[in-house]
Amino acid sequence: MEKTIIKDKFDRPLRDLRISVIDRCNFRCQYCMPADQFGDDFEFLPRSALLTYEEIERVAKVFVSLGVEKIRLTGGEPLLRKDLPLLVEKISNIEGLNDIGLTTNGVLLPKLAQKLKDAGLKRVNVSLDTLNDELFGQINGRGIGTKPVLDGIAAAKKAGLGVKINMVVKKGLNDSEIIPMADYCKNNGLELRFIEYMDVGSTNGWKMDDVITKKQIYMMLKEHYQLENLDPAYFGEVAKLYNYKDTNVNVGFIPSVSESFCSSCTRSRLSANGQIFTCLFNGNGHDIRNFMRNGATDEELITRITSIWNGRDDRYSDERTEETAKNRKKIEMSYIGG
Ligand code: SAM
Ligand code: SF4
Ligand code: SF4
Repeated sequence: MEKTIIKDKFDRPLRDLRISVIDRCNFRCQYCMPADQFGDDFEFLPRSALLTYEEIERVAKVFVSLGVEKIRLTGGEPLLRKDLPLLVEKISNIEGLNDIGLTTNGVLLPKLAQKLKDAGLKRVNVSLDTLNDELFGQINGRGIGTKPVLDGIAAAKKAGLGVKINMVVKKGLNDSEIIPMADYCKNNGLELRFIEYMDVGSTNGWKMDDVITKKQIYMMLKEHYQLENLDPAYFGEVAKLYNYKDTNVNVGFIPSVSESFCSSCTRSRLSANGQIFTCLFNGNGHDIRNFMRNGATDEELITRITSIWNGRDDRYSDERTEETAKNRKKIEMSYIGG
């Protein structure tokens, strides 16, 4: 398909697409899918509601024709979706796409890393919030220690995948792990990204007071390491990156709360059941699954996605207050991925 660039109401181009392939997860991280809210009786999407791989591929191609250069697969836990390497293969063959990544809790990487690499995956972001087994078990809500994740990281490296680590920092929960995690990642040549705790969804009981800001973490790091500021690699780069002086290892921050980056946000999201979200903090998405299942042509899909993006005026993080965090209806993160 020929490539067109489309812009939203604030002149932001469409560049990135995050695809959630499943809303289920083998963890119950307390900041994402708290175990008391996502219990045994929680109704996840039935299989028939999920986009098929053919449908995902079709939508992804349309997105690429409208300017998307990077696709990231996420969830829920994306590695729980059956035969994920098949989807990776389909997506990595899309002409005009520069980059495909995956965000995972890492537990299933020992089984899947090589298959994913062979299918065309380049990079994985593995989420790990602490190296302390007991604390990790508490955070993931399943009592699972760090070993499966560390094994997953090792398997990804062995398979030749690029690996970055995501660490969500919540005050009083794992801020004591900032330096141990920084040490571990630096010593193992892994780029660590500190993510500010966000008010995604409405189940995690978020409070501004629970956020440890980029600045606070940066000050802690400065006491231990010499850091050099790196310029953003491209428009819309959300991570603020630093280099540990005299090494080839970087460390980054995703300061979604304290230094919002809405003005350069080029991301769209596709939920597992085929709804398009133009912001992580939307309440509702725009259906594309039934539209396709009712026979929409590629031209019609292009027109629909173009009009969704042209109408986008989201800038939630610029406007966030305690009030909006509490009262606004927002989709759960496990449903559309991070
Ligand atoms: N299950 C995969 C994983 O954990 O990597 C992929 C989906 S998860 C929703 C994607 C990312 O969102 C993870 O790095 C996770 O730590 C992050 N995340 C989840 N809830 C968050 C919150 N409340 N604030 C900030 N980041 C969050
Ligand atoms: Fe699952 Fe990832 Fe959410 Fe944790 S952050 S509950 S691993 S989807
Ligand atoms: Fe993008 Fe919405 Fe996040 Fe702003 S709040 S950076 S518009 S996803």
